[in-house]
Amino acid sequence: MTAIRVAIVGLGKIARDQHIPAIAETAGIELAATASRNACVEGIEHFATLDELLESTPDIDAVALCTPPQVRHAQAAAALKAGKHVLLEKPPGATVSELTPLIAVARQTGRTLFATWHSRFAPAVEPARDFIANRQIKSVAVEWKEDVRVWHPGQAWIWEPGGLGVFDPGINALSILTRILPRPFFLTEAELSFPGNRAAPIAADLKFSDQTGLPIRAEFDWRQSGPQTWDIRVDTDAGCLTLSSGGSRLVHDDRTLVDEKQAEYRGIYRRFVELIASRVSDVDLSPLVHVADAFMLGRRIEVEPFLED
Ligand code: NAP
Repeated sequence: MTAIRVAIVGLGKIARDQHIPAIAETAGIELAATASRNACVEGIEHFATLDELLESTPDIDAVALCTPPQVRHAQAAAALKAGKHVLLEKPPGATVSELTPLIAVARQTGRTLFATWHSRFAPAVEPARDFIANRQIKSVAVEWKEDVRVWHPGQAWIWEPGGLGVFDPGINALSILTRILPRPFFLTEAELSFPGNRAAPIAADLKFSDQTGLPIRAEFDWRQSGPQTWDIRVDTDAGCLTLSSGGSRLVHDDRTLVDEKQAEYRGIYRRFVELIASRVSDVDLSPLVHVADAFMLGRRIEVEPFLED
């Protein structure tokens, strides 16, 4: 079988840090082109925009959209229309409803649409899901706290409408929760902290529950200096399960069950190759629905302006 020829669109931080090495390490797929206005990869065919790429390079099979969410729908629609399989970075779009026509077009044309949630490919996630499946859960606490200046320097889009602000990392926690918890859950209360000079929140305090009344609390904060925290703690009838470092460690009480290096994007590209071979799509919008709910139900409070330097 010949390798799938994929083009990366939007050569920014995540494309360089993760997509390029993961494609190189995955059998059945190869980087064949890039489309980015201000960057290119030596030795790889390059275009300034996706439209130019689609007009000039008919032998591309798939595109990986690593651009900000606000431009992703138009790019995905154009790529599907041109007969390409499409991988969407998270979040899959700037709204929930914009995904519906993309799913329909992918189905009609027999192309794969893959809305990725990279944190679900972290090594502790499936073991956590298996552990929880046989236990009674008493409570869940999420702390996703990082320094925006370290992780998102100069990313103006992240503060604009549709950029999600602190939900850009926070949605990773929600993508894990929606995978490991055995029942659907829903938002009951939220407080969103918006800097006076920004259109997106810098912090969010969320309360969820499910039909059994399970208390779930999630705190997202971009003002964390010092040690960074990406932890989920699940209290069960068999002790406390802690998934930490974004899903690379799993500890049951004092016993370490998983402690592995992240290889999330290799998992993503393996799955993309499988989905294309099986001619199916994989689009789970539940993490994005929770974020939309937070913007709908959340009490907005104004906090001090955020200045980049
Ligand atoms: P980024 O560094 O800003 O890169 C995005 C790239 O997209 C830019 O370098 C830019 O390249 C292009 N772009 C920006 N605005 C555009 C526009 N209006 N139209 C077309 N192209 C545009 O962002 P990133 O951190 O890589 O994040 C991209 C996506 O990946 C986000 O959805 C983010 O949530 C997700 N993600 C990021 C990380 C992370 O650690 N950074 C981790 C996981 C997932 P050109 O100027 O060259 O066109």
